[in-house]
Amino acid sequence: METTVKVKMKLADKYQSGFPLIMKDALVNAEVLTKEGQHLNVVDEQGTYIGKGYYGLQNKGVGWVLTNKHDENIDQSLFDRKIVKALGLRRKYFDDPNTTAFRVFNGEGDGIGGVTIDYFAGFYVIHWYSEGIYQFKDEVVQTLKTQTDYRGIYEKKRFATNGKYLDDDDFITGERGEFPLIVKENGVNVAVYLNEGAMVGVFMDQREVRQAIRDRYAEGRTVLNTFSYTGAFSVFAAMGGATKTTNVDLANRSLPKTIEQFSINGLDYEAQDIIVDDVFKFFKFAGRKQHKYEMVILDPPSFARSKKMTFSAAKDYTNLLKEAIAITESNGLIIASTNHAGVSRKKFRTFIDKAFKETGLGYNIVEEFSLPDDYRVTSTYPDGDYLKVLFIKVVS
Ligand code: SAH
Repeated sequence: METTVKVKMKLADKYQSGFPLIMKDALVNAEVLTKEGQHLNVVDEQGTYIGKGYYGLQNKGVGWVLTNKHDENIDQSLFDRKIVKALGLRRKYFDDPNTTAFRVFNGEGDGIGGVTIDYFAGFYVIHWYSEGIYQFKDEVVQTLKTQTDYRGIYEKKRFATNGKYLDDDDFITGERGEFPLIVKENGVNVAVYLNEGAMVGVFMDQREVRQAIRDRYAEGRTVLNTFSYTGAFSVFAAMGGATKTTNVDLANRSLPKTIEQFSINGLDYEAQDIIVDDVFKFFKFAGRKQHKYEMVILDPPSFARSKKMTFSAAKDYTNLLKEAIAITESNGLIIASTNHAGVSRKKFRTFIDKAFKETGLGYNIVEEFSLPDDYRVTSTYPDGDYLKVLFIKVVS
């Protein structure tokens, strides 16, 4: 059973040319959306066919168009075709023994908004971003079972299921992994846990940034890694010859997790500083002690709340940069990253410009990164490319 939703005339062209996100404001009859997972027949106000999709509530919209073809239906064969195509596009990753963790399916970038699939040395992890897409679980799992040589399949439900939390280990089928599972990224060992909540231990979208740090920037430098989580940037910096890394993260888990990442690479974690603290408190401490670093990495969450303060990338990034500039050595490097989709690349550059102007120092942007190609982005939805990373040389 399909429900027909009508797109406002002024937006019809945009949807006709493949824009995949169904926004509530774009519809004239949003009231027909009643049950997540509902199959939708999308037309314009005059009834001209646009495509087929589903109803699923995400922060961005109320669903996704999955096809604009007349003769395509949302069924097992659609999931098979889209996922098989996506797997094929990741051939070079499957063939590379030095990188065994990557994204095999990137939501709307691969033609199905609301779901991503990551690969970790034989294990697949499906992330469901709405209750609506979760209604297609059987189809997605069936495709992975028939089209891949999986060892095991896990899932992350990234939506609240009527306030009910199912306390399981996210396992779906196959073999249960033993964790930590050690995967490789450009030859470096990375410990991942597929059964401990939404974050598995590494953000793979920063792969190229870590590689650049190791291969071109770390040698002989002291490194401050803020919002360090499991210390992935620092491990690559140390592998690249950094003289010492200092890691700061508020979460208690960051201490054992960072020790583990260094240890599995044969690096001496006792030669590093691993500090559990608020980054903003640390900046004050470092300022008082007149500590300075030759490389400062800023990779904050888009939003964070601690007992004493809140951080929002959209509002507070300039201030974060000013704090960082104050403890960066002259001619040092600041690596500024944000994954906040609401902060465009252009806006992010204005934050950087403002921070340096207000500090009275000059800067050069020496390198820029966006998502790696396993995090596929479609030209019909360029906002899917949320990652902005700038390497900034401080000029004194
Ligand atoms: N840079 C990391 C990922 C960061 S995830 C990497 O490359 O893997 C965001 C991290 O910020 C989380 O680990 C969280 O605990 C930490 N965090 C949030 N607010 C913080 C604060 N005020 N001070 C220090 N760490 C904070």
